[in-house]
Amino acid sequence: MSKSKSSESVKVVVRCRPLNKKEESNGGIIQMDLQVGQVILRNPRAPISEPQKTFTFDAVYDASAKQRDLYDESVRPLIDSVLAGFNGTIFAYGQTGTGKTYTMQGAWMDPEKRGVIPNAFDHIFTHISRSQSDRQYLVRASYLEIYLEEIRDLLDPNHGNSRGLELRESPETGVHVRDLTSCVCKSIKEIEEVMNVGNQARAVGATDMNEHSSRSHALFLITVECSQPGPDGRKHIRVGRLNLVDLAGSERQAKTGVQGERLKEAAKINLSLSALGNVISALADGRSSHVPYRDSKLTRLLQDSLGGNAKTVMVATLGPSSQHYDETLTTLRYANRAK
Ligand code: ADP
Ligand code: MG
Repeated sequence: MSKSKSSESVKVVVRCRPLNKKEESNGGIIQMDLQVGQVILRNPRAPISEPQKTFTFDAVYDASAKQRDLYDESVRPLIDSVLAGFNGTIFAYGQTGTGKTYTMQGAWMDPEKRGVIPNAFDHIFTHISRSQSDRQYLVRASYLEIYLEEIRDLLDPNHGNSRGLELRESPETGVHVRDLTSCVCKSIKEIEEVMNVGNQARAVGATDMNEHSSRSHALFLITVECSQPGPDGRKHIRVGRLNLVDLAGSERQAKTGVQGERLKEAAKINLSLSALGNVISALADGRSSHVPYRDSKLTRLLQDSLGGNAKTVMVATLGPSSQHYDETLTTLRYANRAK
């Protein structure tokens, strides 16, 4: 694979949320040059003379960016390619509290604040309603989470044994989760309902939702199947898969003083994020012959949607506050390695 072709299939964009009330007094440390896609990071502890760090990405979004801007520029082409029968994955990566869930879901009821997922639903069903009448579409949705390397079906949370659902691989279907619930959705309303059911299941299973969501990956999976008569009169079927992934928080899990079970848990969370980083950087590099998909459940599950003809968009989210300088720098380095 040539470098240009592969790097075209992986796009990395960065979004910085506004300062919140608590942070206002500290001030921000992030500047962005929207024209060239640059993030300029100021180290609040460094002397003025020290040069600031700059990073360049496929696009950058500052605090004033609208949900719709990010969708139209950075996500829409990926959804179009899924509708054309290719696979695509969108990741939100970043420290807890920087806007991963806001970016992926947003506030559903406010048209201005609808995130990537509801905008993608809209896009898919609008496309279907406008398509030629000889095309038939079938849209299916699944929703799962990966917590400590175990897979849980959010549409049927009590399903499977205590070790979670299993990953299987077959020549026909590729890598898939055995017995995962899959719901046929005929309208935006139906697919939104599926999302709501899963979101509720996620919250119910958790004693502390914030803590839980910062430690688990949520994957909303959509399959779009299109059948159409070919020139030979036979039915031709195209299948595109779309994976919408709200990753676990990227903050270092192992704070000093954590021991035993908690330390093991922390290692697993860090492991799947670093495995993902390794896979994406191998793909973006285009020269690596070995892509280490097997290193985590997350990368194995998404194997058929990462690389090859598939498109990937990574949205790295940042907080602007000086308090989080170290984590912000870590996120920028991770994102930088992925492009
Ligand atoms: P994460 O999922 O990464 O933990 P959230 O999406 O929950 O973070 O965001 C944390 C808080 O910041 C929420 O109150 C959210 O509404 C707010 N927020 C995040 N990004 C933005 C943004 N771009 N504009 C306005 N508010 C935002
Ligand atoms: Mg979240």
